[in-house]
Amino acid sequence: MTVQKVSRISILPFGLVNAHIVSTSSGCILVDTGLPGSEGKIGKALSALGLTFKDIKLIIVTHAHVDHAGGAALMRELSGAPILAHAGDAKYFRREAAMTFCTTGWFGRLFIKTNLMLEPYVGFEPDILLNGNDALDLKPYGVEGIVRHTPGHTAGSISILLASNEALVGDLIASGILLGGLIMTNKAKRPPFEDDALTVAAELRGMVGTGMTKFFMGHGGPLDASEVARHADRLAAGAMSDKNILDVSANACSCPRISNDGLRLDHRQANYGCASAEGN
Ligand SMILES: [Zn+2]
Ligand SMILES: [Zn+2]
Repeated sequence: MTVQKVSRISILPFGLVNAHIVSTSSGCILVDTGLPGSEGKIGKALSALGLTFKDIKLIIVTHAHVDHAGGAALMRELSGAPILAHAGDAKYFRREAAMTFCTTGWFGRLFIKTNLMLEPYVGFEPDILLNGNDALDLKPYGVEGIVRHTPGHTAGSISILLASNEALVGDLIASGILLGGLIMTNKAKRPPFEDDALTVAAELRGMVGTGMTKFFMGHGGPLDASEVARHADRLAAGAMSDKNILDVSANACSCPRISNDGLRLDHRQANYGCASAEGN
């Protein structure tokens, strides 16, 4: 097996916002691109590994939030590498629609008022668009692992599952305090925004179930599998109760969680709740 290493890029310090590089002897893939203007930090992280932008074989954007997709267009220009992302978030990558934000608590509600998450970024058309439950083998890009659809944080969220049993999961889970990071980074938490807690719980359980042992995230982390499993259980229990203990009420979220007949939508089949709301 190729020796490959996951390196964290601090887009903002203390793990507040992370991107990652998965590097091997034959180059690397970039996972997330940070806020617009993060190219200097990404370049620095690459050079610390003895790499340049031109060594990037693939740019994976885990979802369309600005702190992950904001630098993608420029990174493609600098590296010449294709962008891979999921069709579930495509209208946001293309800047065809404004994102909705399902807040998970007081911090999310406060944070959205700063407008940082609404900061515009240069739109792009992904070169490789995953559809539905597609998974893609990363071997052609020199990496032992796959990328696949893991919705819940957004409709088009994807994760990278490496043969080393390390997973890069974007914002499916966060750790630390506030936005994530800073302190208590070994304690899982929900990110400030999350479309569908039940789907997130199922996806996290699924990845733990396939043997993933270490989880790298966009905010805080990394976490081990037992903490991820604990969070998924808590999330599932909270989201399934009517007590709303995890504050699944959403003031800015248009994604339905309950179908008209009172049953939870099967997001996999319905191509995610937001799409159903639009009659798709
Ligand atoms: Zn996000
Ligand atoms: Zn994020």
